[in-house]
Amino acid sequence: MLTIDIIKAKQLKDKPDPNNLGFGNYFTDHMFVMDYQEGMGWHNPRVKPYEDLHLDPSAVVFHYGQEMFEGLKAYRRQDGEINLFRPDMNGKRLNNTNDRICMPQIPVEDFVQAVRTLVHTDASWVPEEAGTSLYIRPFVIATEPTLMVNPSKSYLFMIILSPVGAYYKEGLNPVRIYVEDTYVRASKGGVGEAKTGGSYGASMIAQKNAKNEGFAQVLWLDAIEHRYVEEVGTMNIFFKIRGKVYTPALSGSILPGITRDSVISLLKSWDIPIYEERISMDTIIEASKNGDLEEVFGTGTAAVISPVGGIHFKGLDFVVHNNEIGPITRRIYDTLTGMQYGNVKDDFGWIE
Ligand code: PMP
Repeated sequence: MLTIDIIKAKQLKDKPDPNNLGFGNYFTDHMFVMDYQEGMGWHNPRVKPYEDLHLDPSAVVFHYGQEMFEGLKAYRRQDGEINLFRPDMNGKRLNNTNDRICMPQIPVEDFVQAVRTLVHTDASWVPEEAGTSLYIRPFVIATEPTLMVNPSKSYLFMIILSPVGAYYKEGLNPVRIYVEDTYVRASKGGVGEAKTGGSYGASMIAQKNAKNEGFAQVLWLDAIEHRYVEEVGTMNIFFKIRGKVYTPALSGSILPGITRDSVISLLKSWDIPIYEERISMDTIIEASKNGDLEEVFGTGTAAVISPVGGIHFKGLDFVVHNNEIGPITRRIYDTLTGMQYGNVKDDFGWIE
């Protein structure tokens, strides 16, 4: 259990228009900070006014990208209370990432306590308009002032909060995706299963090109054969083919999404067959040509579920389910968002 100092902001900010929030544009009055120093461990956990950081220009994070981030949300329920969705899973994933990039672990209970304390301090920032939420961005940066390519001896763990708008303003909307067969997001043995900034920076060029061509997201393929499906943008991906649901197995290059894990549990609880395996583009194209490709959707904290209406692969376009939202896609979306906003009973113990 951490003893968290709370230093309140003297001047509170004006709240932005809740109908025009977008994503990640506004930040709340406070932030969480905890220091790490080799030999001392994590210390001085505090909530303090949101403000600029003061860092040495030689800090390891600026040169070698030793940093990680997480993402989760707080949801305003109809009774005014606030829900978090599986925050312990973000704490566990944070520690897997930290292990991969040689940063110190943070006990999951401390992580969750820090999230809770900050959200509680800035509770008035959790918006209540339909579909809005408070995005929670925990991150760890390497702060040691040195140009040596070594794990830093000091770190900052921080959490900032941003009220965000409804992902789908006019309701759930199918998107067209571009299958990327030049650039790759991740490879086995690399950092695809970790949430470290560098791999997101490296993925921007493909996303930018796809956007310029009028596609919403990139569908990433494996790094070796450019043949097997991995993820869609910053979401995991699911395919329903002849009544069975498939999602790529966690092979080392795929981020283990918390929404992905929740969707798998939901499908199992509904007795819908779900398989985690390697899925080739050949299988998808063949299913599409035979009329067997019934539903495709991405999963992630930002959109929860993102239905895919079209797939563009090597110059050809494949339409999924008439560009309409399939019944399982809809059912998962309604169930998960229902739990998050407190309107659907949570039988899994996911909500706190
Ligand atoms: N894949 C990638 C690459 C991501 O960045 C994210 C977002 N964290 C996801 C998948 C979905 O993960 P989650 O369901 O935990 O948001």
